[in-house]
Amino acid sequence: MGNTVIDGMIILATFTKHFKDEDFQRNRIKFIYNQIMNQTFQQKLDLKCKEHPEESVIFWCKSIDCQENRIFCILCQKLQKHYNHFNEDVDVINKLNQFFITKSQNLQSLLRECKIQYQSTLLSAKQLISGLEYKFCGFEDKINEFDINQVLKALESFILFDDMNDYISGHITGPLKKMQNIFDNLFSQLKLHLINYQISKFQREINKNEYQKTFSLSFSKKEAEAIKKLDELLLIEPYNLEIMYQKGNSLGKLNESKKAYEIYLDIIKINPQHELSYLKLGDLLRDEKLYYQALQYYNKCISINENNSAAFFGKGECLSADNQYNEALLDYDRAIKISSSNQVYLISKGHCLRKLERYEEALNIYEKILNSDSKNAEAYAGKGDCLRLQGKYSDAYQCYQQTLHINPYQKDLFCLIGECLILSDQYYEAIEYYDKVLKINQYDTDSLYYKAICLFNLGQYNEAQQYLVTADQLIPGNQPIKDLLFKCANSQKK
Ligand SMILES: [Zn+2]
Ligand SMILES: [Zn+2]
Repeated sequence: MGNTVIDGMIILATFTKHFKDEDFQRNRIKFIYNQIMNQTFQQKLDLKCKEHPEESVIFWCKSIDCQENRIFCILCQKLQKHYNHFNEDVDVINKLNQFFITKSQNLQSLLRECKIQYQSTLLSAKQLISGLEYKFCGFEDKINEFDINQVLKALESFILFDDMNDYISGHITGPLKKMQNIFDNLFSQLKLHLINYQISKFQREINKNEYQKTFSLSFSKKEAEAIKKLDELLLIEPYNLEIMYQKGNSLGKLNESKKAYEIYLDIIKINPQHELSYLKLGDLLRDEKLYYQALQYYNKCISINENNSAAFFGKGECLSADNQYNEALLDYDRAIKISSSNQVYLISKGHCLRKLERYEEALNIYEKILNSDSKNAEAYAGKGDCLRLQGKYSDAYQCYQQTLHINPYQKDLFCLIGECLILSDQYYEAIEYYDKVLKINQYDTDSLYYKAICLFNLGQYNEAQQYLVTADQLIPGNQPIKDLLFKCANSQKK
């Protein structure tokens, strides 16, 4: 490809991707119009030959097989570079503008036809789908009220429709998928994202500077402003992958995950080797707890760059969330092998080992982290968990205290500390921590129950009973609560 006909087509074809976004289209046309008005068409007459810079160009060539400079001077002509197809395909340079204009207008009318067909196809499809939904779906709640005629008609309709199932997937879903592939392939084959020839050197410099500014905006957490600027840049270069990627990241930081997700998908459609977009897609899906799909993107990312530690880490997190700790461990190890000082990776590996009950190994990792960062609350908490699970309650208690020292308000931690204290028979101290939880949420049933245990062990049966009654009302029928209530009642009688 790469001949002028195709190049000329690109400008207009670029618009078609934006059917859905009329504002975008209007702005962009306005922008390009202004740009064209600013350039003087006369410049064309002064074009110099690329091979003979001192000579003005005189001819241009449109032969599809031509391997020479398509716009050339009298010297090129004397060298007979276009000799074989001169008569059919070479013309004088002042007819080149007209060629662009004619080609562009022809394409415009072709695209107009495409657009009309596309819209009416879409309408028919919508009508068919909503018709099918009306007739065959969502009436489950009415079935019991059907009389015999309704049942007969429904049955008749469904039997007829059964026959159509294969037809629908064979004639609609399948071909639509094929069409989508055709669109996507054409987009990348015609390189519709590359429209550099429409942008002057001067404009490119401005864009570069403006793009740099978006980084500092993003850095000072002004994401909305950054996005506004990126959108302006995208008006000029709608498929600049760097700008698109940056916009995706800014949207992500604003929790606009869905929009960010779509941008990353657009990017990998244009460049199926865009490693970082696969990583981002994986991360977004992982946030949505869609672990299986996230894994696919991480794998794709790794297949492009096997040294992407973040992708290995993401895989580990997905597997770990799915309780596949042995598999997760392999990925954490890969991530750590690539970037050994990343504490987030180490913490996750520690947690994974703890889940596998490999406490000593986990403790080693937490120690390693604390040696280089004595303020790592998560490492203290992890260490505390290991010690608690090994039955070393007072050591665990110390670790949890360190965690609280760094990060004072953690409801889950209060409960764990309470548990350690109960298990070392320190009931008064334990109550202190359950009270902290109950101050945050007075209906926390676990804390109500455990506080009752403490009170029971301190011989305060009446008070224990009060907490148990509340807990029992919140989760009726809970056996441990019932048992303790029974014990309280018995102890009071004595
Ligand atoms: Zn020349
Ligand atoms: Zn030629």
